[in-house]
Amino acid sequence: MDPVVRAALRLQRAAAKIAGSCLALALGAYLVVWVANRPPELLSAAALGVFALSLVTRLVERVRGGVAEGGSRRLDAEILLHLFVGAYAIVLCLPGGLDGAAYPLVYAVALLGGSFTGAVTSACAIAFAVLLEGALGFCALGELELERLALHAALLALFASLSLVVLRTELARVKRVSRQRIESELTRMRDAARSYRLLGAPSSAREHLTPAPDDVERLIYSGVDEIHQAVEFALALLRRTLGLRTAMLVGSEVNGNTLTILELSSSEDAILPGPFGARDGIFGASLERVTQVSISGPRAAVHLPYYSLPRPAVGSACATPLEEHGRVRGLLVVDREARDAFTPLEEETLRAAARFILRAIDNERVFVQLDRAKVEQGKLYRAANALAAATTEAQVIEAGVNGAREFALFDFAVVTLFDRQTQVHEICAASGEGTAELIGQRFRHNSGLVSMVVANRHALPYRGDYDPSRQVVFTRQLSPPPMPSLLVLPLLVHERPLGTLMLGSRRRGAFGDAVRPTLEVLTSHVAVSLANARMLKRLEELATTDGLTGLLNKRALLDVAAQKLKSAGRFSRPLSVLVCDIDHFKRVNDTHGHDVGDVVIKGLADVLRRVKRDTDAVGRFGGEEFVIVCEETDERGACQLAERVRQELAAVNFPTELGPLSVTCSVGVASFPAAGKTWETLFKSTDDALYASKRGGRNRVTVWSPRLQGAA
Ligand code: GH3
Ligand code: MG
Ligand code: MG
Repeated sequence: MDPVVRAALRLQRAAAKIAGSCLALALGAYLVVWVANRPPELLSAAALGVFALSLVTRLVERVRGGVAEGGSRRLDAEILLHLFVGAYAIVLCLPGGLDGAAYPLVYAVALLGGSFTGAVTSACAIAFAVLLEGALGFCALGELELERLALHAALLALFASLSLVVLRTELARVKRVSRQRIESELTRMRDAARSYRLLGAPSSAREHLTPAPDDVERLIYSGVDEIHQAVEFALALLRRTLGLRTAMLVGSEVNGNTLTILELSSSEDAILPGPFGARDGIFGASLERVTQVSISGPRAAVHLPYYSLPRPAVGSACATPLEEHGRVRGLLVVDREARDAFTPLEEETLRAAARFILRAIDNERVFVQLDRAKVEQGKLYRAANALAAATTEAQVIEAGVNGAREFALFDFAVVTLFDRQTQVHEICAASGEGTAELIGQRFRHNSGLVSMVVANRHALPYRGDYDPSRQVVFTRQLSPPPMPSLLVLPLLVHERPLGTLMLGSRRRGAFGDAVRPTLEVLTSHVAVSLANARMLKRLEELATTDGLTGLLNKRALLDVAAQKLKSAGRFSRPLSVLVCDIDHFKRVNDTHGHDVGDVVIKGLADVLRRVKRDTDAVGRFGGEEFVIVCEETDERGACQLAERVRQELAAVNFPTELGPLSVTCSVGVASFPAAGKTWETLFKSTDDALYASKRGGRNRVTVWSPRLQGAA
């Protein structure tokens, strides 16, 4: 876009932003002029029209919403300025002017402003009002009444801040109350889930401390809801068919010593919320004998612990245990006004209802477990896919840690790799607080947790509880951040340990039975992907390196050379190529055998590795011929490098059966772009220079020059 157009657009946008406030200021100024020397009525009517239009459009825009946060704040400020101008105009038109009975209207505007705008906007608008009032007073009376103005300013500020404070406090209160309500609803749901054993019985107390991931929690809540509906329906049905006053389901608390009402259907309001003792009245009678207990007669009410009335009108009651494999899971307790005892048929109906409720709870428990397994399987599937797509060690580790986050809440993760040959562990990745300095640290195999996990091939510590003061994780000197929960999982491929995945959490009991098995499955995926990534790396290495020397092979060197030449051409940077060939190498082979020949080839490779810079690429082109591509290197620099190679090789003594052997080499050097602009021409020039070295007597360096062209 043209800069002028862009500047104009920016100007237009800025003007639109301040237009509303400017209009309010202009209207304020007009009000001052109106007080000083009444302008023609027509002009005032026009000003009034503009004022009304401007205010109404802004109010409509504000009510409709749809403006960004910053925009709505600006709109609030504009509306407040308009309201102040309007208030002063009304006050001035009414008898008494600024001293008249209508003046409090201005305070009302300040009060209103404080309630719908922020502190800064309010303060700015009040400053404007005070200035406007000063100007109006000065024009009307011909002098500035500073004392009066200061008093008004103080009152305006007081009203605005009062309304601001009251509003904020009220908002905070409403927020707090609703948060409390939500929290207590959640607690109620969790308690109900625990009573129905939807959260899993054995470690429910621990799971209470570890919030389940969102979707699992949602599943459990919907399970609670389903059970609630089924039980509510059963209780309502019983009340109708048996003419009951109250029907309720009572269950034991987590600790098992007290009872709470899980579901209630009653025509009576005066019912205690519990908890009740497990031995109280009819509850105790039924629980102790694990049998249905019926009572009737004038004193029946005495045995019901849940009425807050002193003498509830109850004639008979019955408690039916919800029994499952000899264990009582809850009680179905009913009562009615009629004094006649429950008939055998009625008692059978109650037992059937108890069985129905038990089945509803059981079904829901199975559904929740199935759904939970489905959710976990989906997550595991996604994590496995991400791991399968990762091709490098780093990608695998990242995908593994991200996957673990789906199943467990943790504050840090560390991955260690174990080298069986050197018996050394290395921390190759760490994320989370306090772990940055761990990356790259190595330690020997010892009796710490990580070493034990690798040695025994199973996760530690038991249950994931960790005591930083007693347990060594890496070494005595090197530890992860001290947290109460820690889990070190082995990365196993066919029972072969590659290393460990470690998770740490600030919450106690974070790695309980609910998450460990899934994490173990995940880590086995991580381990397989890690092994695959290593294999891939090895294959890539094999495809690009020369087996004898470990340098690049011809194909890989040609790839690198093409890239370097391209970038040298694009950025007009120097680049040189060297070709190095051992002199009379056939003789070495013939005299000392191929094995010694190989040692000599490796010797030259070592020299090249030693003298080259990090940015140089060295490759074996075949036989005893090596090529070096040096970026950012001109003819002079390349020549120095070639000379060093020649001298260093000549200085090496290769031990042989026939005594020490020393060899020499010849080098050809050519530089881009003088000696060639394409790889083919540049390499041809290097070859020409090498040929010149050989022809000139060997053991020398020749730099390409135009007169060598085609000499080879
Ligand atoms: P010049 O000074 O002209 O270079 O003479 P030269 O004998 O070195 O000749 P040339 O460079 O053509 O020699 C290449 C020889 O290198 C031929 C081959 O027997 C030998 N050779 C090629 N590859 C290998 C290898 O992998 N190991 C061993 N030991 N010798 C090899
Ligand atoms: Mg040779
Ligand atoms: Mg050769």
